[in-house]
Amino acid sequence: MISQSLERYSRQILFQHIGEERQKLLMDSYAVVVGCGALGTVSSSYLTRAGIGHIRIIDRDFIEESNLQRQILFDENDIAEGIPKAIAAQRKLRGINTKTNIEGIVTDVNYANKDELTKNADIILDGTDNFETRFLINDFCVKNNIPWIYSACIGSRGVMMNIIPSKTPCLRCVFETMPQMGSFPTCDTAGVIGSIAGVIGSIQVTEAIKILTKNYESINKTLLEIDVWDTRYKQIDVSSLRNLNNCPTCKSHKYRYLEAENGVMTTLICGKNAVQVMYRNISNIDLEKLAKRLASISDVSSNEFMLKFHVKDHEFTVFPDGRAIITGTNDLSMAKSLYSKYLGM
Ligand SMILES: [Zn+2]
Repeated sequence: MISQSLERYSRQILFQHIGEERQKLLMDSYAVVVGCGALGTVSSSYLTRAGIGHIRIIDRDFIEESNLQRQILFDENDIAEGIPKAIAAQRKLRGINTKTNIEGIVTDVNYANKDELTKNADIILDGTDNFETRFLINDFCVKNNIPWIYSACIGSRGVMMNIIPSKTPCLRCVFETMPQMGSFPTCDTAGVIGSIAGVIGSIQVTEAIKILTKNYESINKTLLEIDVWDTRYKQIDVSSLRNLNNCPTCKSHKYRYLEAENGVMTTLICGKNAVQVMYRNISNIDLEKLAKRLASISDVSSNEFMLKFHVKDHEFTVFPDGRAIITGTNDLSMAKSLYSKYLGM
Protein backbone atom coordinates (compact mmCIF):
# COMPACT_ATOMS: atom_id res chain seq x y z
CA MET A 1 0.00 0.00 0.00
CA ILE A 2 1.58 3.25 -1.17
CA SER A 3 1.25 6.14 1.26
CA GLN A 4 -1.14 8.92 0.24
CA SER A 5 1.62 11.55 0.11
CA LEU A 6 3.38 9.55 -2.59
CA GLU A 7 0.26 8.87 -4.68
CA ARG A 8 1.42 11.06 -7.57
CA TYR A 9 4.47 8.82 -7.94
CA SER A 10 2.57 5.57 -7.46
CA ARG A 11 3.18 4.21 -10.99
CA GLN A 12 6.89 4.84 -10.64
CA ILE A 13 6.96 3.30 -7.14
CA LEU A 14 5.24 0.19 -8.48
CA PHE A 15 8.08 -0.27 -10.95
CA GLN A 16 10.22 -3.09 -9.53
CA HIS A 17 13.51 -1.14 -9.38
CA ILE A 18 12.10 1.94 -7.60
CA GLY A 19 9.73 1.29 -4.68
CA GLU A 20 8.90 3.72 -1.88
CA GLU A 21 12.35 3.94 -0.29
CA ARG A 22 14.05 4.73 -3.58
CA GLN A 23 11.33 7.25 -4.46
CA LYS A 24 12.28 9.05 -1.24
CA LEU A 25 15.90 9.11 -2.42
CA LEU A 26 14.73 10.91 -5.57
CA MET A 27 12.76 13.39 -3.47
CA ASP A 28 15.93 14.14 -1.47
CA SER A 29 18.06 14.59 -4.59
CA TYR A 30 19.41 17.72 -6.21
CA ALA A 31 19.94 17.74 -9.98
CA VAL A 32 21.47 20.52 -12.04
CA VAL A 33 20.56 20.79 -15.73
CA VAL A 34 23.10 22.88 -17.61
CA GLY A 35 21.55 24.25 -20.78
CA CYS A 36 17.83 24.32 -21.46
CA GLY A 37 17.49 23.75 -25.18
CA ALA A 38 16.07 20.64 -26.84
CA LEU A 39 17.69 18.18 -24.41
CA GLY A 40 17.33 20.34 -21.30
CA THR A 41 13.59 20.88 -21.82
CA VAL A 42 13.03 17.12 -22.15
CA SER A 43 15.24 16.11 -19.23
CA SER A 44 14.03 18.80 -16.82
CA SER A 45 10.41 17.83 -17.62
CA TYR A 46 10.92 14.19 -16.73
CA LEU A 47 13.05 15.00 -13.67
CA THR A 48 10.25 17.23 -12.40
CA ARG A 49 7.56 14.62 -12.99
CA ALA A 50 9.71 11.92 -11.40
CA GLY A 51 9.81 13.97 -8.19
CA ILE A 52 13.47 15.00 -7.94
CA GLY A 53 13.45 17.24 -4.86
CA HIS A 54 15.49 20.15 -6.16
CA ILE A 55 16.18 20.98 -9.81
CA ARG A 56 18.32 23.88 -10.95
CA ILE A 57 18.13 24.84 -14.62
CA ILE A 58 20.85 27.08 -15.96
CA ASP A 59 20.62 28.68 -19.39
CA ARG A 60 21.99 31.87 -20.88
CA ASP A 61 19.65 32.31 -23.81
CA PHE A 62 16.26 33.60 -24.96
CA ILE A 63 13.62 31.70 -26.90
CA GLU A 64 13.42 32.06 -30.64
CA GLU A 65 10.78 30.84 -33.06
CA SER A 66 13.12 28.21 -34.52
CA ASN A 67 13.47 26.65 -31.02
CA LEU A 68 9.80 25.62 -30.80
CA GLN A 69 10.25 22.68 -33.19
CA ARG A 70 12.15 20.73 -30.48
CA GLN A 71 12.29 22.64 -27.17
CA ILE A 72 9.17 21.14 -25.69
CA LEU A 73 8.67 23.40 -22.65
CA PHE A 74 8.33 26.62 -24.65
CA ASP A 75 5.50 28.21 -26.60
CA GLU A 76 4.68 31.28 -28.68
CA ASN A 77 3.63 33.27 -25.62
CA ASP A 78 7.12 32.92 -24.14
CA ILE A 79 8.57 34.45 -27.29
CA ALA A 80 6.02 37.26 -27.26
CA GLU A 81 6.92 37.97 -23.62
CA GLY A 82 10.65 37.87 -24.38
CA ILE A 83 11.49 35.82 -21.29
CA PRO A 84 14.71 33.80 -20.96
CA LYS A 85 14.60 30.02 -21.37
CA ALA A 86 15.52 29.32 -17.75
CA ILE A 87 12.65 31.48 -16.48
CA ALA A 88 10.11 30.05 -18.96
CA ALA A 89 11.17 26.53 -17.94
CA GLN A 90 10.88 27.39 -14.25
CA ARG A 91 7.33 28.69 -14.73
CA LYS A 92 6.16 25.64 -16.66
CA LEU A 93 7.78 23.11 -14.35
CA ARG A 94 6.51 24.74 -11.17
CA GLY A 95 3.03 24.28 -12.60
CA ILE A 96 3.71 20.58 -13.16
CA ASN A 97 5.02 19.76 -9.69
CA THR A 98 4.71 22.16 -6.76
CA LYS A 99 6.43 19.60 -4.52
CA THR A 100 9.70 20.09 -6.39
CA ASN A 101 11.94 23.09 -5.82
CA ILE A 102 12.59 24.43 -9.34
CA GLU A 103 15.14 27.18 -9.84
CA GLY A 104 15.76 28.79 -13.22
CA ILE A 105 19.01 30.73 -13.45
CA VAL A 106 19.82 32.98 -16.41
CA THR A 107 23.54 32.79 -16.89
CA ASP A 108 26.38 31.02 -18.60
CA VAL A 109 28.28 28.37 -16.63
CA ASN A 110 31.96 29.26 -16.72
CA TYR A 111 35.16 28.88 -14.70
CA ALA A 112 34.31 31.89 -12.55
CA ASN A 113 30.83 30.83 -11.39
CA LYS A 114 30.86 27.02 -11.69
CA ASP A 115 31.39 26.40 -7.94
CA GLU A 116 28.54 28.60 -6.87
CA LEU A 117 26.21 27.22 -9.56
CA THR A 118 26.83 23.52 -9.22
CA LYS A 119 28.19 22.82 -5.75
CA ASN A 120 26.31 20.21 -3.70
CA ALA A 121 24.66 18.78 -6.82
CA ASP A 122 23.97 15.05 -6.64
CA ILE A 123 24.06 14.87 -10.42
CA ILE A 124 24.62 17.18 -13.39
CA LEU A 125 22.85 16.70 -16.72
CA ASP A 126 24.40 18.03 -19.89
CA GLY A 127 22.02 20.11 -21.99
CA THR A 128 24.74 22.36 -23.41
CA ASP A 129 25.63 22.90 -27.03
CA ASN A 130 29.42 23.25 -26.79
CA PHE A 131 32.50 21.31 -25.75
CA GLU A 132 34.03 24.20 -23.85
CA THR A 133 31.28 23.99 -21.24
CA ARG A 134 31.27 20.17 -21.30
CA PHE A 135 34.99 19.98 -20.51
CA LEU A 136 34.46 22.50 -17.73
CA ILE A 137 31.63 20.37 -16.27
CA ASN A 138 33.82 17.27 -16.68
CA ASP A 139 36.76 18.75 -14.77
CA PHE A 140 34.46 20.13 -12.09
CA CYS A 141 32.60 16.84 -11.62
CA VAL A 142 35.70 14.64 -11.58
CA LYS A 143 37.38 16.97 -9.07
CA ASN A 144 34.31 17.07 -6.80
CA ASN A 145 33.23 13.45 -7.33
CA ILE A 146 29.82 14.32 -8.81
CA PRO A 147 28.33 12.02 -11.48
CA TRP A 148 27.30 13.73 -14.69
CA ILE A 149 25.71 12.66 -17.97
CA TYR A 150 27.16 13.80 -21.26
CA SER A 151 24.57 14.11 -24.04
CA ALA A 152 24.45 15.67 -27.48
CA CYS A 153 22.19 15.67 -30.54
CA ILE A 154 22.75 16.66 -34.13
CA GLY A 155 20.77 15.79 -37.28
CA SER A 156 18.97 12.56 -36.40
CA ARG A 157 21.82 11.26 -34.22
CA GLY A 158 22.33 11.51 -30.49
CA VAL A 159 24.95 10.31 -28.02
CA MET A 160 24.95 9.79 -24.29
CA MET A 161 27.50 8.64 -21.72
CA ASN A 162 27.42 8.40 -17.94
CA ILE A 163 30.49 9.74 -16.20
CA ILE A 164 30.94 8.40 -12.69
CA PRO A 165 34.19 9.88 -11.36
CA SER A 166 36.93 7.34 -10.55
CA LYS A 167 34.69 4.50 -11.79
CA THR A 168 34.05 5.13 -15.49
CA PRO A 169 36.10 6.97 -18.15
CA CYS A 170 35.60 10.73 -18.12
CA LEU A 171 34.88 12.91 -21.16
CA ARG A 172 38.61 13.64 -21.64
CA CYS A 173 39.45 9.93 -21.51
CA VAL A 174 37.14 9.50 -24.49
CA PHE A 175 37.73 12.70 -26.48
CA GLU A 176 41.21 13.63 -25.14
CA THR A 177 41.14 17.19 -26.41
CA MET A 178 38.42 19.62 -27.26
CA PRO A 179 37.24 19.24 -30.86
CA GLN A 180 38.27 22.22 -32.97
CA MET A 181 35.64 24.86 -33.52
CA GLY A 182 34.04 24.26 -36.88
CA SER A 183 35.25 20.64 -37.10
CA PHE A 184 31.98 19.33 -35.72
CA PRO A 185 28.64 19.76 -37.47
CA THR A 186 26.29 22.10 -35.63
CA CYS A 187 22.53 22.53 -35.58
CA ASP A 188 23.22 25.30 -38.06
CA THR A 189 24.92 23.14 -40.68
CA ALA A 190 23.23 19.78 -40.16
CA GLY A 191 19.86 20.72 -38.67
CA VAL A 192 18.22 18.57 -36.02
CA ILE A 193 15.15 16.35 -35.79
CA GLY A 194 13.23 17.18 -32.60
CA SER A 195 12.54 13.57 -31.69
CA ILE A 196 16.21 12.65 -31.24
CA ALA A 197 16.33 15.10 -28.32
CA GLY A 198 13.23 13.39 -26.91
CA VAL A 199 14.96 10.01 -27.10
CA ILE A 200 18.34 11.09 -25.71
CA GLY A 201 16.77 13.32 -23.02
CA SER A 202 14.56 10.43 -21.89
CA ILE A 203 17.49 8.02 -21.67
CA GLN A 204 19.52 10.65 -19.84
CA VAL A 205 16.81 10.97 -17.18
CA THR A 206 16.49 7.18 -16.89
CA GLU A 207 20.23 6.98 -16.20
CA ALA A 208 19.95 9.84 -13.70
CA ILE A 209 17.17 7.99 -11.88
CA LYS A 210 19.31 4.81 -11.74
CA ILE A 211 22.25 6.77 -10.31
CA LEU A 212 20.15 8.71 -7.77
CA THR A 213 18.31 5.59 -6.59
CA LYS A 214 21.60 3.67 -6.30
CA ASN A 215 20.60 1.10 -8.92
CA TYR A 216 24.30 0.92 -9.76
CA GLU A 217 24.20 -2.50 -11.43
CA SER A 218 21.81 -1.15 -14.10
CA ILE A 219 23.83 1.95 -15.06
CA ASN A 220 24.85 2.06 -18.72
CA LYS A 221 28.64 2.00 -19.02
CA THR A 222 28.95 2.53 -22.76
CA LEU A 223 28.99 5.46 -25.12
CA LEU A 224 25.49 5.10 -26.48
CA GLU A 225 24.70 6.29 -29.98
CA ILE A 226 21.23 6.38 -31.49
CA ASP A 227 20.05 7.45 -34.93
CA VAL A 228 16.28 7.92 -35.10
CA TRP A 229 16.26 8.29 -38.90
CA ASP A 230 18.09 5.04 -39.66
CA THR A 231 16.60 3.47 -36.53
CA ARG A 232 20.11 2.49 -35.51
CA TYR A 233 21.34 1.84 -32.00
CA LYS A 234 24.97 1.32 -31.04
CA GLN A 235 26.73 0.87 -27.71
CA ILE A 236 30.45 1.56 -27.89
CA ASP A 237 32.52 -0.09 -25.18
CA VAL A 238 34.69 2.65 -23.67
CA SER A 239 35.37 0.90 -20.36
CA SER A 240 39.08 0.29 -21.05
CA LEU A 241 39.84 3.91 -21.98
CA ARG A 242 40.34 5.07 -18.42
CA ASN A 243 43.15 2.54 -17.98
CA LEU A 244 44.61 2.96 -21.46
CA ASN A 245 44.82 6.75 -21.61
CA ASN A 246 46.91 8.96 -19.43
CA CYS A 247 43.99 11.31 -18.87
CA PRO A 248 45.05 14.68 -17.41
CA THR A 249 41.71 15.06 -15.61
CA CYS A 250 41.05 11.73 -13.93
CA LYS A 251 44.61 10.33 -13.82
CA SER A 252 46.85 13.35 -13.20
CA HIS A 253 44.18 15.49 -11.52
CA LYS A 254 45.06 18.50 -13.65
CA TYR A 255 41.85 20.45 -14.10
CA ARG A 256 42.83 22.81 -16.89
CA TYR A 257 39.27 23.81 -17.73
CA LEU A 258 38.64 25.08 -14.23
CA GLU A 259 41.31 27.73 -14.64
CA ALA A 260 41.05 30.86 -16.71
CA GLU A 261 43.95 31.44 -19.06
CA ASN A 262 43.08 35.11 -19.15
CA GLY A 263 40.26 37.43 -18.31
CA VAL A 264 38.17 37.03 -21.42
CA MET A 265 36.16 34.09 -22.63
CA THR A 266 34.63 33.77 -26.05
CA THR A 267 32.31 30.99 -27.14
CA LEU A 268 30.91 30.26 -30.56
CA ILE A 269 27.16 29.78 -30.22
CA CYS A 270 25.83 26.58 -31.75
CA GLY A 271 23.34 27.08 -34.54
CA LYS A 272 23.88 30.79 -34.94
CA ASN A 273 26.35 33.04 -36.61
CA ALA A 274 27.16 34.49 -33.19
CA VAL A 275 29.77 34.65 -30.45
CA GLN A 276 29.37 35.15 -26.73
CA VAL A 277 31.94 37.36 -25.04
CA MET A 278 32.44 37.51 -21.31
CA TYR A 279 35.04 39.24 -19.16
CA ARG A 280 36.22 37.90 -15.86
CA ASN A 281 36.39 41.23 -14.11
CA ILE A 282 33.00 42.51 -15.22
CA SER A 283 30.29 41.28 -12.92
CA ASN A 284 27.59 43.86 -13.08
CA ILE A 285 26.42 46.18 -15.84
CA ASP A 286 23.91 48.94 -15.36
CA LEU A 287 21.72 48.39 -18.41
CA GLU A 288 19.91 51.71 -18.02
CA LYS A 289 23.12 53.69 -18.11
CA LEU A 290 24.40 51.66 -21.01
CA ALA A 291 21.15 52.28 -22.94
CA LYS A 292 21.66 56.03 -22.53
CA ARG A 293 25.26 55.76 -23.68
CA LEU A 294 24.34 53.82 -26.79
CA ALA A 295 21.28 55.87 -27.72
CA SER A 296 23.33 58.09 -30.02
CA ILE A 297 24.63 55.26 -32.19
CA SER A 298 21.71 52.85 -32.31
CA ASP A 299 18.11 52.07 -31.47
CA VAL A 300 18.30 50.41 -28.09
CA SER A 301 15.67 48.17 -26.52
CA SER A 302 15.95 46.79 -23.02
CA ASN A 303 14.17 45.14 -20.13
CA GLU A 304 15.44 43.97 -16.73
CA PHE A 305 17.05 40.87 -18.28
CA MET A 306 18.83 42.28 -21.31
CA LEU A 307 19.62 45.12 -23.65
CA LYS A 308 19.69 44.89 -27.44
CA PHE A 309 21.22 47.20 -30.01
CA HIS A 310 22.49 47.02 -33.61
CA VAL A 311 25.64 48.22 -35.26
CA LYS A 312 25.95 47.58 -39.00
CA ASP A 313 25.40 43.83 -39.48
CA HIS A 314 25.78 42.96 -35.81
CA GLU A 315 23.13 42.61 -33.17
CA PHE A 316 24.37 42.90 -29.60
CA THR A 317 22.47 41.37 -26.69
CA VAL A 318 23.97 42.49 -23.39
CA PHE A 319 23.12 40.88 -20.05
CA PRO A 320 23.43 42.39 -16.58
CA ASP A 321 26.33 40.02 -15.76
CA GLY A 322 28.42 41.64 -18.47
CA ARG A 323 28.01 38.95 -21.09
CA ALA A 324 27.27 39.95 -24.64
CA ILE A 325 26.07 37.85 -27.54
CA ILE A 326 27.16 39.36 -30.82
CA THR A 327 25.59 38.11 -34.03
CA GLY A 328 26.91 38.47 -37.56
CA THR A 329 30.29 36.86 -36.86
CA ASN A 330 31.92 33.51 -36.14
CA ASP A 331 35.26 35.15 -35.51
CA LEU A 332 36.13 35.10 -31.81
CA SER A 333 38.66 37.89 -31.90
CA MET A 334 36.42 40.09 -34.02
CA ALA A 335 33.69 39.57 -31.44
CA LYS A 336 36.10 40.61 -28.68
CA SER A 337 37.03 43.75 -30.55
CA LEU A 338 33.37 44.58 -31.23
CA TYR A 339 32.71 44.15 -27.52
CA SER A 340 35.58 46.45 -26.66
CA LYS A 341 34.49 48.96 -29.24
CA TYR A 342 30.90 49.35 -28.11
CA LEU A 343 30.89 48.18 -24.52
CA GLY A 344 34.18 49.67 -23.48
CA MET A 345 36.25 46.72 -22.27
ZN1 LIG B 1 39.57 10.90 -17.74
